[in-house]
Amino acid sequence: MKAVVLIDGKPVLKQVDVPKLCHGDVLIQMKACGLCGTDIEKIGGHYTASQPILGHEPTGVVFESLSADVKVGQRVFAHHHVPCYECYYCLNGSPTMCAYYRKTNLDPGGFAEYFRVPEFNVSRGAILELPSHVSFEEGCFVEPLATVLRAQKRALLKKGESVFVVGAGPMGDLHIMVAKHFGASQVFASDLSQTRLDFASKIGADYVFSAQESPEKEVIKLTDGRGADLSIVASGSPKAVVSALRATRKGGRVLLFGVPYKGSFLEYDLSELLNNELSVIPSNAAVEEDTRSALSLIAQAKINVSKLVSKLYTLDEFEKAVEDSLAGRVIKAIIVSEKTKGASD
Ligand SMILES: [Zn+2]
Ligand SMILES: [Zn+2]
Repeated sequence: MKAVVLIDGKPVLKQVDVPKLCHGDVLIQMKACGLCGTDIEKIGGHYTASQPILGHEPTGVVFESLSADVKVGQRVFAHHHVPCYECYYCLNGSPTMCAYYRKTNLDPGGFAEYFRVPEFNVSRGAILELPSHVSFEEGCFVEPLATVLRAQKRALLKKGESVFVVGAGPMGDLHIMVAKHFGASQVFASDLSQTRLDFASKIGADYVFSAQESPEKEVIKLTDGRGADLSIVASGSPKAVVSALRATRKGGRVLLFGVPYKGSFLEYDLSELLNNELSVIPSNAAVEEDTRSALSLIAQAKINVSKLVSKLYTLDEFEKAVEDSLAGRVIKAIIVSEKTKGASD
């Protein structure tokens, strides 16, 4: 079968063996898998994971199952990282810090004609059945939306609060949609790209600002001189973190969501953090309760993720998908097993 794997930091479309199943494993025929910013970082060699695996937003059809809970033919989403739900971290509110969390993964990854979901994941609820009206492409947003839901939950977003989203890529867009859904009074967004800003306005941002023109000042002006109640950093750039810190009201919260490059440092006067009682809340990834909530919001069309699907690519076109994403030509690239009639090309 065909699979995109990382070889010396480069994505290579290779012929590999279809994974063999062990007790409790499930084999899925991939139908669609979103290309994530972290996949692109892994390709660029900027990611912290020691053995990077590409593709963690996959959906497909169960092809073979050694689990009693999963049936052949089911249309599903599969979660790549799953915690043990038994250790100190899992039992004390930090499941994504579980030692098993990052060890678990799909084999050989989501950008393959078939991938294996290990028994460890399957038995802990990593496979969710997609309702028949949820497309495979929409299902690709279960994982990204789950990480956004968990993040905003950690940041304790309350109805009526103002929110500033720094970075309007696909994850920033999901943050905008979710903040609106949870009743944010005003949502501001900033980015360097005008295309992304125009798109952010379309999907619900009330005000958008170029990151080059001190968006902090505008946010403060539009919040009666206070600053946003919650700022969300949906970018890995340290400058975005500083922008968020400066645009947040005294006593407000800054949610760190975008993954910075390894070795990034912040140029920021630490005294401001304490004097202004700013809370900094990082949020990394999601677990099964979040993927279930995400799928439920997608299925009820409360978060309309189909708006974010901008272009479909086949496995053979993987490199093009990465190029287009890097050049900002697409909001969210989705890799599909085959392009159906009527799908975007
Ligand atoms: Zn992702
Ligand atoms: Zn654990």
